Amino acid sequence: MSDSEDRRGTPGMCADGDRTLRAALVRRIRRGILAASAALSLLVLPACGSAASTDAAASDGLAVVASINQWGSMARDLGGSLVSVTSIMTNTNVEAHDYEPTTQDVARFSSAKVVVVNGADYDSWASKAASSTSADLVDAATAGGKSSGDNPHVWFSSTVRSRTADAITTAYRKADPDHASRYSALNAAWHKREDALDKLIASTRSTTKGKEYAATESVAWYLADDLGMTDATPSGYAQAVANEGEPSASDITSFQKELAKGAIRMLIVNTQEADSVTDTITTSARTNDVPIVNLTEQMPSRYDDLIDWMTALVRQFAKA
Ligand SMILES: [Zn+2]
Repeated sequence: MSDSEDRRGTPGMCADGDRTLRAALVRRIRRGILAASAALSLLVLPACGSAASTDAAASDGLAVVASINQWGSMARDLGGSLVSVTSIMTNTNVEAHDYEPTTQDVARFSSAKVVVVNGADYDSWASKAASSTSADLVDAATAGGKSSGDNPHVWFSSTVRSRTADAITTAYRKADPDHASRYSALNAAWHKREDALDKLIASTRSTTKGKEYAATESVAWYLADDLGMTDATPSGYAQAVANEGEPSASDITSFQKELAKGAIRMLIVNTQEADSVTDTITTSARTNDVPIVNLTEQMPSRYDDLIDWMTALVRQFAKA
C-alpha cells in the first residue's frame, strides 16, 4: 500500500504543503538554477506538497513521528501493530535540504512518544520540533556515529541503518516496556532482512569494486562506498554542490570532459534536486553512453520500506 498517496488529498494539509513546495521552487528559480521547463512544473503541482502519512492500521499504537519516510518505514517495521507512525516528508518532488515545515508538520510532534530524525543537519527543523516535547529522540546520524558536517544521506549506509534500528528498538522498549519482548523480536526479524541486504551488497561488490562513478549530488555516497565504488565526481563540482552553492561554468565543463573520457562507469542523478545544471550533466552522460541511475532523497511510494528500496538500488547499481 502506498502511504503517501492515500493521504495526499487530506483537506487542510494542502494549503501549507503546497505553499512550501512552491516556495522551494520559487527560491530555486530566483537563484537562477531552474530551467524554464522546471518552472512550468509550478503549474502542475499535486494538490498537496508535503502530505504526511500515517499508518492507519495502527492508529491506536505508540505514537511515533519520523521526519522523513525512509526512517518512518523502518520505525513501522520495528514496531509492527504496536506503533502508529507518522512520516512528515513523503514527497519525492519537494526540495529536501531546504524543507520548511508547515505548522501542521510541527503540531504532529506534540503527541509523539518517540521521534526519529535523520540528523547531521539534514532535518534540524524536526530535531527542533521534537525538543519541545517529552518524546524520546532517535537521531539516526548520531546513532550511526555521524555528525554535523558528514554526508547527511546516512540512510544509504548499512552501518547507520543497523545502529538506528537498534536505537529505535531501545526507545520503543523504554516508552512501552510492557511489550519489550515483542519489540526485541521485531528487531531480530528486521536484522535478518538487513543481513540479507548486506549479503547482496557483499556479492554485488565483486562486480562494482573499484568502479568509478560520478554523482550530481553525493546522495548515495554511503551505498556506493559499501559497494566499494570510487567517487570520481570532479572535486570543484562536488564541493560547490555539497556547500549548497552553484558549480561554476568550468566545474560543469570539467564534469562533461570526465564523462567524455570514458572512465566514469555510472552517473547517479538525484532527481529530487534536479535543475538546469544537472540536466546539462545528464545530457552529457547520455551523449557518452554513461549509464544513469536516477534516485531521490525520500523513499518513492512504490517501495514497502527502506530495506526494500535499498535492495532495488543495489540491483540497479549492479546492472548499470
Ligand atoms: Zn541531498
